[in-house]
Amino acid sequence: MAKDNVDLICDIGELAGLFEKSQSLSDFLQSAVSIVAFHMRAAVCSIYLYDADREVLTLAATQGLNTDGVGKVSLKLGEGIVGTAMKELRPICEGHGSLNPNFKPIEGIFEENYEAFLAVPILLRGVMRVGVLVTQDPQPNYFHKNDIKALRAISSQLAVVIENAKLLMSLHEAEQRLPEEPKVEEVHKQPAFVKGVTASSGVVRGTAVILDGHGYDVLVAPGETDDVSSPGLEDFEIALQESISQLTILQNRMEERLGDVASLIFNAHLLILKDEGFSGEMRKLIAQGTSADRAVTSVVNDYIGLFSKSKNPRLQEKVLDVKDLGHRLLRNIQQHGEDSGDYSGQILIAKELVPSDVLKFAAQNVEGIVIVQGGVTAHISILARSLRVPMVFVENERILDVEPGILILIDANQGTLFLDPEPAVLKQYDSLVNRQETERKSVLPETFTMDGTKIKVLSNVNLLSDIEFAIENQAEGIGLYRSEFPFIIRNEFPSEEAQRLIYERIFNGMPGKEVVLRTLDVGGDKKLPYHQHDEEANPFLGLRAIRFSLKNLGIFKQQLRAMLRAGADRQLKIMFPFISSVDDFLEAKEVMMECIMELESEGLPYNPNPQVGLMVELPAAVEIIDELAEAADFFSIGTNDLIQYLLAVDRTNESVSSMYVCHHPAVLRAVYRIVNSAIHNDVDVSVCGDMALNEDMLKFLIGIGVRKISIDPQQIPRVQAFLCSLHTEEARRHARKLLRFGTLREVNAFLTSVDGESA
Ligand code: PEP
Ligand code: MG
Repeated sequence: MAKDNVDLICDIGELAGLFEKSQSLSDFLQSAVSIVAFHMRAAVCSIYLYDADREVLTLAATQGLNTDGVGKVSLKLGEGIVGTAMKELRPICEGHGSLNPNFKPIEGIFEENYEAFLAVPILLRGVMRVGVLVTQDPQPNYFHKNDIKALRAISSQLAVVIENAKLLMSLHEAEQRLPEEPKVEEVHKQPAFVKGVTASSGVVRGTAVILDGHGYDVLVAPGETDDVSSPGLEDFEIALQESISQLTILQNRMEERLGDVASLIFNAHLLILKDEGFSGEMRKLIAQGTSADRAVTSVVNDYIGLFSKSKNPRLQEKVLDVKDLGHRLLRNIQQHGEDSGDYSGQILIAKELVPSDVLKFAAQNVEGIVIVQGGVTAHISILARSLRVPMVFVENERILDVEPGILILIDANQGTLFLDPEPAVLKQYDSLVNRQETERKSVLPETFTMDGTKIKVLSNVNLLSDIEFAIENQAEGIGLYRSEFPFIIRNEFPSEEAQRLIYERIFNGMPGKEVVLRTLDVGGDKKLPYHQHDEEANPFLGLRAIRFSLKNLGIFKQQLRAMLRAGADRQLKIMFPFISSVDDFLEAKEVMMECIMELESEGLPYNPNPQVGLMVELPAAVEIIDELAEAADFFSIGTNDLIQYLLAVDRTNESVSSMYVCHHPAVLRAVYRIVNSAIHNDVDVSVCGDMALNEDMLKFLIGIGVRKISIDPQQIPRVQAFLCSLHTEEARRHARKLLRFGTLREVNAFLTSVDGESA
């Protein structure tokens, strides 16, 4: 029977899923070796795991050898073929294993029956020793070059899963050392390890707090009776004042942290509190003899009922605000006022959050967020990254049932959670965090590939706080300022003056450097709470971005005027999002020209010559790219949307996230077409979508001629290090090969092959 390498590679995705389903670590490893042995048609497949402290490899699972050896057979680094493969970080393929000078027969596992030997190191990020994957067969010379490629591909795919498994193993070992039998409830306790998807990277730990706001249920009244000892009007007034001052503190804290209008997020709470219909109604009930806490509960629940029945999603979202306020008032009435809603040292687990919730919890110092619904490129993720709050999406709703107060470690870089982790796991993570800190400190002011090609690395900015990070990480400018964020987090449209001040602060943060200000991209998953957006069945296909601006000319002109004024005497670049035709682009440009004429006649200082460009993020724009190149000064490729619209996969819908693939042949060809047209028409081009964060894709982008990227500022050190290790010629070969494939299957196989790594 032929070996089935391509299928094997495809099954690795299955393996990762299998890990979540496995009852135990050994179950998982056993399944892994069985699947690999089956597809490789090999008699034996084994996994050895590496213990870096002891420099020892231990047999962790095997199909074909004597399973009595599992957990017992171990080899030192450099010992035997397996130890040598690990030590020298290279695959070893032997037609006759016993003839290799390093061969070390191990008694009792019947290895001597299998002559053909292939050992491939399992390496995390290409360098960190995780273990060794071994296949063996009785037929000499059974393994060939293609098998090495396939096994290497599997190894790199498995590295992350196995690394996590290793952490778990130390946890299990610690459990096994417990002298007593485990209690029944411990046997049934929640899984200690949960695999999710990274929304915002970082490693943090904290105690679990479950957000009870989901489901829009009611506030629960505390006491049973309204007797004389119940809190009255005086208690209510004190609690109200206490709540107002707590919210003011939170608002100030946000101001300090973000330095922009984000602080206004708590304005909504303050406004509701001061509203006569809200607190006045409570006073009325108290005057009629209802206790203060029951009065609060009753009024809050009336509001919850009202808002949750509303068809307007923005009003529905207010349910959480009102409920939050109710809790705050009740806590203060019950004189637990010292709790000012501070989430320091805590990990928040929630079913669903809106952007304003993310801001609110960040202001309340939450350490990290675990969320069930959302998408990696959804705007709550983008916001969490700006706020530097690690965030992971976990598909399984059971995460909401974790025991409040248990310790959770979030490795948002890998998208994993450890519930109640062992000290050994925590220790490993401490050293990982230290390593990342060192990497961050070694970032350079400019980026060159190995052969000296300059790649300009700019920063995406969502909130003003990102600028600090961009400066820290030596960004060479701002390639995308998402101007909608100050609009989203306000309670009203910011004035032209307020906008001008924000844009000026961006220029001030990057003196003399390139700054691209993108006009409003609202609609889709970004709604303005204070604007009556039309009800849309498909908001992502609706009045989004430039369509919204062209329909709301007053808002558009105000923004353009603010940009032109802030950009006086600066290198101003204005960019229009969501352009689907040359006509849209020219219409938007005409509005800008009107603004220029107005400013001229008003005698205000402004920039009369901004460069004007567009986001290439719609399939229609790709089709007319040459015509757009004639009209525009620059292109920025928005791969987040380009992928969504090319593949018809909602970027915010986690249940179709497996279909949201940046290496789809259609995406690769579209991006190539855009870049090629830009180069031939001498139009400046950059990539500002998340595709530029993926190493395989970065190599592709450099290979097709991209020389400028704009990314989240926290990613700059990692991306720079990768770019510095690239050869442009190698990248060109990689891109050429990728562009030849017509199926995802081929692309996947290539990217996980040796060729994919070194082409
Ligand atoms: C994109 O679409 O790739 C992009 C960068 O813009 P946004 O994520 O704001 O839609
Ligand atoms: Mg976009």
